Amino acid sequence: MAEWVQSGYNGMFRLTGGESGEQYAGYVVRTQGESGGQPERWSAYEFHADRGEHGEHVWIASHASREVAQTAVKGEFLCEVYLTGNGPGHCPFPGSIVRHTIYKGKRLRTVLCGEHSGVFEGWDTMPLGEYRRTHGLIPDAPIIGERVAPVPEITCFVESAKNAETITERNMWIAMHKAARALANYRFWYGHFVAFPIEPNARQYRDTRTQWEHAKEHAEGIHAVYAREDHGQESAELPDYFLHSITCKAAEIVRSRKR
Ligand SMILES: [Zn+2]
Repeated sequence: MAEWVQSGYNGMFRLTGGESGEQYAGYVVRTQGESGGQPERWSAYEFHADRGEHGEHVWIASHASREVAQTAVKGEFLCEVYLTGNGPGHCPFPGSIVRHTIYKGKRLRTVLCGEHSGVFEGWDTMPLGEYRRTHGLIPDAPIIGERVAPVPEITCFVESAKNAETITERNMWIAMHKAARALANYRFWYGHFVAFPIEPNARQYRDTRTQWEHAKEHAEGIHAVYAREDHGQESAELPDYFLHSITCKAAEIVRSRKR
């Protein structure tokens, strides 16, 4: 478990530990307050092992509250687009770019995934990591209203496959799971591509999109077989809630990969 540990005095805390052993993630430090009667200000620094010769600390946010500043270190930044329709809620995919603009002297910004990177066209665009280093970013900062997570209807494809009563049903769940994995790959590369639009990323993005299209077609076909053989329905379409569940599962996979 990652843990915040006070470092020497009460103005500095380090985040250490993690799922993969003793991983050091970064620190927050009080840059204002304590004495002099000023309000407190905490700055968060993230450790990037891949930068510089021995890794580098990068400033990624400042906040009046230590607890809030701490959430920025290895924070999760999700897309802020609100989706209506099936299981309404905010888009569950990780953000990859930030679109921002100055309005009446204040910086407005929105975190977007690859799929929604076209929203707020005309605003400036920056890769998420660069925006964090330039302007700072707090996870789950107020958007317009609260973040609402979409409610998945079925996400346990693996469990469902285990409990399937027929071979056709089992195959159908497996196809759904494969589709979710393909969608996860595609959405991951989509996000990567909009943040870093270079040819190798474009190729990955196109390949994974094709794989997803095939996996989706395959899932639709297998679902039609299941509907016909197990329920006697001719020409059944893939229900919306299946697609919704595939999307939720895919988002879960991308998010676990980002962590
Ligand atoms: Zn999105």
